[in-house]
Amino acid sequence: MQIFRMPSSFCPRCGKACDHALPVIGENIEKPTPGTHTMCIGCGAWLVFDEQLLLRWPTPDELVSQTPEHRRYLAEMRKALKRVRARGH
Ligand SMILES: [Zn+2]
Repeated sequence: MQIFRMPSSFCPRCGKACDHALPVIGENIEKPTPGTHTMCIGCGAWLVFDEQLLLRWPTPDELVSQTPEHRRYLAEMRKALKRVRARGH
C-alpha cells in the first residue's frame, strides 16, 4: 500500500493535521495533485487538495462532479470512522 507524504495542512472542519495521503480507490495509484478529492480521517469531511496541495473545501462544481465510486467510498469511510470511534479510538 502506497502512502504519500504531503505538505503539512489542516482539515478546515476539525483542524486535524494532515501530512500524508493514502489512495484507497481506483486503479491509478499516484500521488495526489491539485484537485484530487480526499477525506479527512479525523471527521470524515470530503475535501480537495488545492494548488499547494493543502486541504480545502470542494467547490459546488467539484461536489456535483463526484463519481458514484467517490460517493460510495465516502459513505463507507464515514461508516468505518463511526465504528472506530464507537470502540473508543
Ligand atoms: Zn477533519
